[in-house]
Amino acid sequence: MLWGVHGSVGKVALTPDTPLVQALGERTDKALKKAFGYTTVGDFLEHFPRRYASRGELTSLQGIPLGESVSIVAEVVSCTERPMRKRRGSLLEVEITDGTGLITITFFNQAWRSRDLQPGARGIFAGKVGAYRGGKQLSHPDYELFDDQPPSEHESKAWAETPIPIYPATAQMASWQIQKAMASVLSRVEKLEDPLPEVVRENNALLPYHQAIVQVHQPSATGEWKAARATLRFHEALLLQLALLRQRDEMRSHGATIRTAGALTKRFHEALPFTLTSDQEAVITEIDNDLVSGIPMHRLVQGEVGSGKTVVAVRATVQVAEDGGQTALLAPTEVLASQHLRSIVKTLGPDLAADLVPTLLTGGLSAQERKRAELKVVSGQARIVVGTHALLNEKLAFHDLGLVVIDEQHRFGVGQRDVLRQKGTNPHVLILTATPIPRTVAMTVFGDVDVSTIRGVPEGRQPISTHVVSLSEHPDWFGRVWSRAEEEIAQGRQVFVVCSAIDKADADPDASEDDVPVTGVEELAAQLRTHPQLGARRIGIVHGRLDSDEKDRVMTQFQNGELDVLVATTVIEVGVDVPQASTMIVMDADRFGISQLHQLRGRVGRGELPGVCLLVTHVHPETVARQRLDAVASTTDGFELARIDMELRREGDVLGSSQSGGRSGLKLLRVSTDGDLIEAARHQARDLLDDSADLSQYPSLQRAVDELLAGQEADYLDRS
Ligand code: ADP
Ligand code: MG
Repeated sequence: MLWGVHGSVGKVALTPDTPLVQALGERTDKALKKAFGYTTVGDFLEHFPRRYASRGELTSLQGIPLGESVSIVAEVVSCTERPMRKRRGSLLEVEITDGTGLITITFFNQAWRSRDLQPGARGIFAGKVGAYRGGKQLSHPDYELFDDQPPSEHESKAWAETPIPIYPATAQMASWQIQKAMASVLSRVEKLEDPLPEVVRENNALLPYHQAIVQVHQPSATGEWKAARATLRFHEALLLQLALLRQRDEMRSHGATIRTAGALTKRFHEALPFTLTSDQEAVITEIDNDLVSGIPMHRLVQGEVGSGKTVVAVRATVQVAEDGGQTALLAPTEVLASQHLRSIVKTLGPDLAADLVPTLLTGGLSAQERKRAELKVVSGQARIVVGTHALLNEKLAFHDLGLVVIDEQHRFGVGQRDVLRQKGTNPHVLILTATPIPRTVAMTVFGDVDVSTIRGVPEGRQPISTHVVSLSEHPDWFGRVWSRAEEEIAQGRQVFVVCSAIDKADADPDASEDDVPVTGVEELAAQLRTHPQLGARRIGIVHGRLDSDEKDRVMTQFQNGELDVLVATTVIEVGVDVPQASTMIVMDADRFGISQLHQLRGRVGRGELPGVCLLVTHVHPETVARQRLDAVASTTDGFELARIDMELRREGDVLGSSQSGGRSGLKLLRVSTDGDLIEAARHQARDLLDDSADLSQYPSLQRAVDELLAGQEADYLDRS
């Protein structure tokens, strides 16, 4: 065939399953795979524009943030070429404007660009915003001018108003290159099947799927992309709810062993050295009801760091242990696992601990220790098993796994929880989180978990004051940070210092481009050891590259007050309890998220002493990163911070970093603002499942849900 001779692959219609390489060629395929992980036409078609610009409307240059990558629509004001002063070559300086402000773009030895970049030319300019001679510039800019001029006067309005999609882009693939690739795919793709039954489409006033996809990428008017996005957002919400509800139905369709409180539980309460708060009592009652219901519990307990969640969880383990049931507690790191074990032993008191044999199982154990621990688990002797990923090992078997407790859910995917669940017969599941999340999020992320909240914090907890130390505004404050640390130590207190990297090699490559390098644990510790004041103090370090014995040794030293300063990465993030620690210093605080900072801060003020938290940063005051820090400094109310966090995350991905990205991240859905839509989708999903429990009546919907679940599974496998 002639087609074959000419290599016209393009004549064959594309389907969602067509590999991208076949549709767009090797170069583009590689760039898209690297940047976004896409491999098929279907993946790519769901790469939705971040926003829409128009040729007539210029992007406001006011307040565009330094250090961020932007795509802006602007007009050229001036274009001048001059020789470089200090070296050979010429510099082309082009000023562009939105009508109010100016920003400069510069090119070295590329004078030929002046042919196009003439005053009056308009286009999209993309690059990272940097500082330049007191103003701003786009460094390494990339641009595309609108060469299609308004055809005639009466058509010029339409020309000026046609929305231009602006895509999430990368250095290799600018937004307009993605736009072109998309146009090429759309022109060849076969009619896309609509996964939704017609009745669902009608009930919810949705566009047909194919039309929605075309309109979201190639709208001819604003109304078109709005309608398209509304449709696609509903699709996303519905598929997610179907997947979650199906999982839940599946889980609930099996009976769970009834675990009734008895003599052990009574002993537990009698041994408790304090009175439970009313919130703790209420949550205990809820859990108690779940455990005797005969249906597997799936409950999230949320509460501030230090609000007393652990006690509540330990009580549940005791109730499960009454008739020999075992609990597995999954912790994100070895340090936390051993700390959990210690605090469980402490909470149980010596008598109960002797009966329940709390046992540690982590990758850091020697082969012999591990063997011994595994034996206790399989025999049922250990009724509480605390561990890290080692608990997920397929060879590990339990005698009677009755309860799975997951600490700090955001570190684990749904898949990992399921692996653990499989080790018992429909065990109950309890998730503990210090990151409070709104109901819609809980619903979206966990399906139908029941949520319990501990609002109050036990009495006697000390206030924490938080300050942003802005080195971009006040470079000399760096010295004051350490004077403050020294003052605290002089009063017999301890100081945490958290860095975002272990050393330069560990810092992410992005950071090395910045003017200010990231502070690493190793360098900072070395610096502090020669510091005029702190040099005489006892300084320890902890990070993920140390072996677990060493980590535990240093943590224990710090806990016992044998160290004054602990310089660490976020291994200390959750759960670490050191009553004498009064000060938390976070270096490059802008590199952490709001909830992470809030949790880090929760490490101090746990004993009798008021806490101080210093958020050290180089970021510019006008950035979103700085807003995050100011938010953390402004309140210690975790629920309020969760709300601010959602608002600030425009690209918001509530699934948290370990569950984001790839194909399981949310695309158009925003749990912070789409609560009503999610509720509506949930009702629709419930109706569909009541109609057809396995969705076999709706084959294309069934396929879409299966794919979603398979994608999640794949993500889990990738990570492990
Ligand atoms: P969380 O797990 O929510 O961060 P923990 O359960 O670890 O909090 O509790 C923090 C500290 O407070 C622990 O030392 C614990 O023994 C103590 N604690 C818990 N509940 C109470 C209470 N009702 N009264 C006094 N102290 C409590
Ligand atoms: Mg805890």
